[in-house]
Amino acid sequence: MSGIVIIGGGFAGAWSAAAAARVRGGADLNITLVAPNEDIVLRPRLHRLLPDWSRVPLKRFLEPIGVSHLRAAVTEIDTDAHRVVTDGRELGYDRLVMAAGSRLNRPAIPGSELLFDIDTVEGAARLSGRLDGMEGFRAVVVGSGFTGLEIATELAERGTVVLIERADVVGPDLGPGPRSVIEAALTALGVEVRLGTTLTEVDEKGARLVDGTHLMADVVVWTGGMRASLLTAQIPAERDHLGRLRVDGRLRVQGDVFAAGDVAAAHADPWHQVVQSCQFATPMGKAAGHNAAADLLGVPLVDFTPDPYVTCLDLGSAGAVFTTGWDRQVQLDGVEAKKLKDTILDVIHPPLDDAEEILRQAGQQSNGVSG
Ligand SMILES: Cc1cc2nc3c(=O)[nH]c(=O)nc-3n(C[C@H](O)[C@H](O)[C@H](O)COP(=O)(O)OP(=O)(O)OC[C@H]3O[C@@H](n4cnc5c(N)ncnc54)[C@H](O)[C@@H]3O)c2cc1C
Repeated sequence: MSGIVIIGGGFAGAWSAAAAARVRGGADLNITLVAPNEDIVLRPRLHRLLPDWSRVPLKRFLEPIGVSHLRAAVTEIDTDAHRVVTDGRELGYDRLVMAAGSRLNRPAIPGSELLFDIDTVEGAARLSGRLDGMEGFRAVVVGSGFTGLEIATELAERGTVVLIERADVVGPDLGPGPRSVIEAALTALGVEVRLGTTLTEVDEKGARLVDGTHLMADVVVWTGGMRASLLTAQIPAERDHLGRLRVDGRLRVQGDVFAAGDVAAAHADPWHQVVQSCQFATPMGKAAGHNAAADLLGVPLVDFTPDPYVTCLDLGSAGAVFTTGWDRQVQLDGVEAKKLKDTILDVIHPPLDDAEEILRQAGQQSNGVSG
């Protein structure tokens, strides 16, 4: 018997597995999660540079709910034959949930191998190892999106930071709503912001910018945006500019394939597409896992109905900023927003060892953080 195969062990894959297990109840249905990693990585925690705090053992999430974990990377998907191939193994499926997530876009510039990042737990460990015991370091952070701002403000507590942004405003994708709070935080923390410029080369001593300026730095941290797993190209379906598979309101890509998390371009509401975030990856995983199992067992499917969009951006010792809506209206800043950020970083940790609690949360579509 083939059953359900889930590709990916992040927020979307893990919650997909739990939601499928919840729908399965006592039915005879195999659920297999395929992912190379031993841990779920809580990527929103990585900017705090405590890599071990960002790891959650998958085994303690999957075993209690009777989901098998095949520790391997999928290399091939054949939707006609209903099978996936890993390094050395083939696996048939009746329903597939694609949840292989995203990776940082890396620049093709000289010295790019010297760049640091906080995209993965290994990346965060390498950066934290480099800075360990180094007080008063100099850092260049490239990109002032969500991740760039979080790591720049975190590093500014311990060293000197220059923040590079190609656009002529800070946080261009965050819009004007939170900008004055962000600018005030960067000023308070002494972060030097250079707008309208970009990185052309990295060397052992620092970073060269497009106008030829060389900035001395102990670390150059790249935060150039995320792109969906390249595995999405193996599913014959339409993809968006981030490489995400277009899905319907029940997160079906086509036929027997569903998708969730950073690989899926779903509508958050009639006017907006989801953004790549755990805020959406978690409820998408729950809906996709539910629907994969429901489709197979002949029970009703659910619509994907996420909570209203919010953001909570960490600003280091300057606090945080919490916004609601797609125009990102500021609701909280400073210490109050920081408390909320800390709560969010706590609640994204999934329950472990307790089947009843894991299955209960798998049935909740809401993340519990709203305006
Ligand atoms: C530094 C940083 C800070 C962030 N902060 C926030 C935040 O504050 N709020 C927020 O909402 N979001 C935040 N995000 C985004 C959020 O972490 C992602 O949107 C979320 O992790 C997506 O979950 P996912 O399960 O879709 O993908 P991922 O977390 O990328 O997990 C993908 C999984 O698929 C596995 N996989 C990949 N390729 C294969 C393969 N070929 N075969 C099998 N398995 C495979 C991986 O090993 C992994 O287990 C942040 C991201 C980063 C990097």
